[in-house]
Amino acid sequence: MSKEIKYNSVKDLPTMVVSTGSMLINKTGGWRSVRPIINYEKCTSCMICWKFCPEICISAEEKPVIDLDYCKGCGICAEECPKGAIDLVPEGK
Ligand code: SF4
Ligand code: SF4
Repeated sequence: MSKEIKYNSVKDLPTMVVSTGSMLINKTGGWRSVRPIINYEKCTSCMICWKFCPEICISAEEKPVIDLDYCKGCGICAEECPKGAIDLVPEGK
């Protein structure tokens, strides 16, 4: 049986690595090894990629726009795009 642990303040937390800033401070795009590129000729603006992006870094404009400062390159958008309109290319190429 697990024992419930209660923390009353931040000082009660065990020592660990934590982020003290929001995702607006932590630009997770630096983790990326592949970069999603949208082919706007194939894109139908269905916004499925926007819906599935776990970083919420795709904006729903007239066409989707990816904010590469926050894109981790997970590839979910490319996997979910029904039109095959997103390619993942290695960073630096
Ligand atoms: S899922 Fe694909 S087709 Fe739909 S908006 Fe995104 S890139 Fe365009
Ligand atoms: S690769 Fe991942 S983090 Fe980047 S835009 Fe696509 S779904 Fe979002």
